[in-house]
Amino acid sequence: MFITNHVLAGAIAGSVFRTRPVADFSLGFATHVAMDMTPHWGNPQIGRDGFYAVAKRDGLLGLATVALVTVAGVPPRRALLAGMAGAAILDSDKPGEFFFGINPLPKWIDRIHKQIQRESPEGLRTELAAGTALASVVAAISVRRRRSLHGR
Ligand SMILES: [Zn+2]
Repeated sequence: MFITNHVLAGAIAGSVFRTRPVADFSLGFATHVAMDMTPHWGNPQIGRDGFYAVAKRDGLLGLATVALVTVAGVPPRRALLAGMAGAAILDSDKPGEFFFGINPLPKWIDRIHKQIQRESPEGLRTELAAGTALASVVAAISVRRRRSLHGR
């Protein structure tokens, strides 16, 4: 799935166990696995360059999402960051290979990560729907937490 969607799911995970960042990280990681097992976008026809063209845009949007959630999110932000990190870490192979020519994931994890993918070009609609729904939930959680923080 798009890293932006993983980050959004991680932000939700980071809102669950707010004082236990390790639990938030683990839940974020679990969302990544579940989302990669769900049919999503992937298109072998576009080749490596086409993939990186999409991945660069998605990566920038994902980074912007991390920044926005961190700034707009309600403390403890450590929990939010832990959830987002847990949700994103399985896709560290892409920037690792693109920028440094290395895949930081252990081979056995990388193998399982590749085997669980359910990608197809038709999965784009799922990605967009998931992104919209996840962003809405993240926004709703932030608004609700902010209100309860200020006693309204
Ligand atoms: Zn993945």
